[in-house]
Amino acid sequence: MEIFIHTHNAMDQRHISPSWIFKQSSEDQIEAVCTKILQETETEKEKESILCKNCKSEITTVEYSTAVNGQHAHILKNPAGITFHIGCFSRAWGCIVYGIPTDEFTWFAGFSWCVALCAHCFTHLGWHYQSGGDSFFGLILANLVKDSKIH
Ligand SMILES: [Zn+2]
Repeated sequence: MEIFIHTHNAMDQRHISPSWIFKQSSEDQIEAVCTKILQETETEKEKESILCKNCKSEITTVEYSTAVNGQHAHILKNPAGITFHIGCFSRAWGCIVYGIPTDEFTWFAGFSWCVALCAHCFTHLGWHYQSGGDSFFGLILANLVKDSKIH
């Protein structure tokens, strides 16, 4: 009502209609909604699923990417000379951990490892590393895909 009274003059006739006032407030509302959607989109992006390439089960999400020894992705060679590109994840609920932890040929000093398989199709997805209370998954990036449905 304040605005209505102050802007009420002949020069400003087209600006004082109730519809203009309504339009202004709805634009503010639209802006607020847009900001909210943007924030939600960003959250959604962080939750982008990472799937088993073979069976498309959810293994983890981008949100749980973690850096080990200062980096998320590592290029590592096993004793048989096979090179793996792995990404580190703090959680991977789509994996089952198989075998007895060993520190033989470990790629991460101080960490013992066991094999991590897809819990759904048993594809070898990488390794689970643990050291005391610390643990993470090192997953073979070539065996994973990002869920293209969510962006
Ligand atoms: Zn699978």
